[in-house]
Amino acid sequence: MASNFDGLSRRDFVLASAGGLLGAAMSATPSVAQASASAGTGAGVAQNGTPQEVRAIGRPMPELENPLPLPPDQRVGWAIVGLGDFALNQILPAIGDTRMCRLSAVVSGNADKAREVARAYGVAPSSVYSYEDFDRIRDNPDVQVVYVILPNALHRDWTLRAAGAGKHVLCEKPMAVSVEDCRAMIQACRAAGRKLMIAYRAQFEPHALLARQMITEGRIGDVQSIAGEHGRMLELDKPRDQWRARQELAGGGSLYDIGIYNINTARFLLGREPVEVTATLRRADDPRITVETGVDYAMRFEDGTRSSFNSSYEYKNTKRLQVMGTEGTIELDPATEYYGNRLLLKTEQAVEQREIRPTNQFASEMDHFAECVMHDRDPRTPGEEGMRDVAIMQAIYEAARTGRPVEVPRMA
Ligand code: NAD
Repeated sequence: MASNFDGLSRRDFVLASAGGLLGAAMSATPSVAQASASAGTGAGVAQNGTPQEVRAIGRPMPELENPLPLPPDQRVGWAIVGLGDFALNQILPAIGDTRMCRLSAVVSGNADKAREVARAYGVAPSSVYSYEDFDRIRDNPDVQVVYVILPNALHRDWTLRAAGAGKHVLCEKPMAVSVEDCRAMIQACRAAGRKLMIAYRAQFEPHALLARQMITEGRIGDVQSIAGEHGRMLELDKPRDQWRARQELAGGGSLYDIGIYNINTARFLLGREPVEVTATLRRADDPRITVETGVDYAMRFEDGTRSSFNSSYEYKNTKRLQVMGTEGTIELDPATEYYGNRLLLKTEQAVEQREIRPTNQFASEMDHFAECVMHDRDPRTPGEEGMRDVAIMQAIYEAARTGRPVEVPRMA
C-alpha cells in the first residue's frame, strides 16, 4: 500500500486524523511507530493537541440483532442430494446464513463436481457420495438430515433411501408425483422414526408471514377472494428445464413447478382448505415438452372463499398473489421470489407499502427443521402438507381432463 507519511498508509492517516494524534505519529521514527503498533497501541491527539496513546480494549457483548450461531460441532449436519441449479445457487450458500446447520456431505452423480463443491465448502472427501454408494451414509454420524433436491419423480425413492439410512429428510416441492408416492414417503419416515418436512420456503418468508398476520388480525376484513399468477418461461437450452419439460421426470408441468405456490401460499395465508376445483389447461405444440404448459384454475374453499389462479410456462417471470377482503386488499408482488418480495396493504384509509428487513428464507427454513430435529418437534410443513398439495393438483388435472368441477379428496 502506498504511504503518504513515514510509517503511515493513507488508511492509517484517515484513522489517525479521526482519532486525533496525527502529529505524534508523524514525529515518531518508523521503528517506534512499528513497535507501538505491534504492542497493540496506537497514537492519537487529544482535543487540546496533547499526544495521547490509545489501545484496543475488550468490551462486553453488544446487543445482538440475531443470536450467535451454534458452535459448528453442535449444529445439525446436512447432506445435500443433487448438486443442480437450486442446490448450488441458493441452498449451499444459504447454509452459511443458518444458525444451526452445517454442510456435512454431498451426494451427486458427477464425481468431479461433487469433489469441487466439497472442497469449496470444507466437506471431507470421505463424505462425498455417489448415487450408487449413498447407502453407506448410514454410517456417517455427521449427517442427521438429508435434503433431497432432485427432479420431482425421484423424490419418493430418495426419501425412502434416506429414511432407510436412518436420516431425517427435507424434500423439495412438489413432494412427489402422486398421492401414493407421498403416502409411501410419510410411512417410510414414520417407520424409521425420522422426521419428514417439505421445503415450502414461502412459509418462512417475512412478507408472507406478515400478510398472514394481517389477515388473521382482520386488517382487510373478511377475506372473500384470492387471486394468483405464477409464470416463467421454460428455457429448454438449460439442463434444469429439460427434465421439467418431461412428464416422466417432472410429474406435471407449470402447475407442479410454480402453480403449487398459488395453492400452498393461499392455504397458508388463509388457513383454510379448498374443497372443490375447476380447471382448463394448455399444451405446447413441441415434442420436447410432454407436460402441460399452462393451467387456469379456481378453488372453492371450505368457508365459500373463492380463488382464481393460473400457472404458466408461457410468460416471463411473474409471481403475484392478491387477497381481497371486505375492508381492503393485500397485494404480494412479487410474492414468492427468492429476494425482493413486496407487500402492499390497500384500505379506504391508506395504501401502505411495508418494507421488511430482508432475511434469508432458505436459512430460516433449514434452521426450523434443524430445531425440530434437535428438540424433537414436528415441522411446520410436514409430509402431510406436501401430500395435500399433490392431491389438490391431481384434482385440478382431473377437472381439466373432465371439464367438470372436482371435489378435493379428504385426507386422513
Ligand atoms: P436441476 O436440474 O438444476 O438440478 C437437478 C439435479 O438432479 C442435478 O444435479 C442433476 O444432475 C440431478 N439429477 C439426478 N438424476 C437426474 C435425472 N434423471 N434427470 C435430471 N437430473 C438428474 O433442477 P433444480 O432447479 O435444482 O430443481 C431440483 C428440485 O428442486 C426440483 O424438485 C424443484 O422443484 C426444486 N426447486 C425448488 C425451488 C424452491 O424455491 N423451493 C427452486 C428451484 C427448484
